[in-house]
Amino acid sequence: MNQEPILDEMALGRWEQLGGPRLIQEMIGLFLENMPEKIEGARTALSAGHLEALSRAAHGMVSSGGNVGARRLQALARELEVAALEDRPNSIPGLFENLETTFEQTRALLEEKKRKTGTLKKIAVVEDNPDNRLLLRAILETRYEMLEFETGQDALQGLETEMPDLVLLDISLPDLEGTELLKKLRAHEKLRSLPVIAWTAHAMTGDREKYLSMGFDGYVSKPIVDEAELVTAMERLLDRRAGNPSAHFS
Ligand code: MN
Repeated sequence: MNQEPILDEMALGRWEQLGGPRLIQEMIGLFLENMPEKIEGARTALSAGHLEALSRAAHGMVSSGGNVGARRLQALARELEVAALEDRPNSIPGLFENLETTFEQTRALLEEKKRKTGTLKKIAVVEDNPDNRLLLRAILETRYEMLEFETGQDALQGLETEMPDLVLLDISLPDLEGTELLKKLRAHEKLRSLPVIAWTAHAMTGDREKYLSMGFDGYVSKPIVDEAELVTAMERLLDRRAGNPSAHFS
């Protein structure tokens, strides 16, 4: 009797730390998409009595199951692989049937996990330097859906059509200062309560207070020294927004 848990949440938790909800969702999505094909391949090999092909199919299931923490399925696939390799056909149909049932149980748990992981928040980055945008993408892309704008005018137009949950706003832009763009946002009927973080290289003593007093909701200085600081500043505002939704966004 197989005593492994159907799903080991620790395995998925580790991926969440590495790549945020997006990685979890994509991992689960790939597993659920590909596993039926692998099971079908194993079934075909089994009915053709082709044990080598069956062991290969089972081998693929061991690794995919391991990636999402599907421990019981992983263990059964391993048993199936070994039974096929050792040419023990009598034990195979029972193992295969058990594996199919286990996959259905695993699917239900993973679908629930995927639903609970939630939808990704949308972050708008207004930044004219491509190197800064590249870094921001590297740090934020796994956690958030991202919108990117290179100029203040583009941002103003883009934000009207696609509302983000938060804006990371460079202060030195080629067409208008970030502080000017903030004023336009605050005067805009639809955009006025968007949380906006001042994102600037003008890091001088008192800058934080200066930008907060202008109406920014947060302040992060460039260059990025500690990406956790950036993510924390963003998460704090996103949490506040989730807990206290504004009428402007309903
Ligand atoms: Mn700039």
